[in-house]
Amino acid sequence: MSKDKKEVRAKFRLAVFTRDQFKCRGCGKQGFDHNNLDDVVKNRDFPGSFVELDVHHITDRNSIPAGGYVKENGISLCPACHVKAENPHMTDVEFQAENLYNMIGSSKNNAYMASLELEKKLNPKKRKPRKKKTTDKEKASILAKERMSDILEDIKPKDFILETADNVELPFNEEEEKKDLQM
Ligand SMILES: [Zn+2]
Repeated sequence: MSKDKKEVRAKFRLAVFTRDQFKCRGCGKQGFDHNNLDDVVKNRDFPGSFVELDVHHITDRNSIPAGGYVKENGISLCPACHVKAENPHMTDVEFQAENLYNMIGSSKNNAYMASLELEKKLNPKKRKPRKKKTTDKEKASILAKERMSDILEDIKPKDFILETADNVELPFNEEEEKKDLQM
């Protein structure tokens, strides 16, 4: 896993657990981050602080930008409540996504918008380079080239080419000139 991803996930877990005060939002039991041993040690002093907490993605990782690693899409749950949240169709209505969002004061839309923001932060689009401003000198040069082009057109360069000996270098290359003008 990339360093960026690890950071995003760690930040996500901490933000969710902090908001939920390290309590299961399903049953209210106090707990600790089961991924973080330091936290287990810290919380051992509190009575009833032995529930392993995990962060449940309310909208599945694959159905939301940036995996939905935003606190608006995460809820702290103990293992028993997590099972219910993963199978809301066969358990309590209480654990359906809409209700989980309500519990944390979020919504599917909030979670989606926050995830979009995270995605933008992770993959900033390269800015388009600004068009260079044409200087007066360049403008004059372009005009001169255009005039030259008109003159050469009048004398029909193709006829001119036919009449020119092979070893004579042409003073003007129309194709090159066109390219120059397009630049
Ligand atoms: Zn619980």
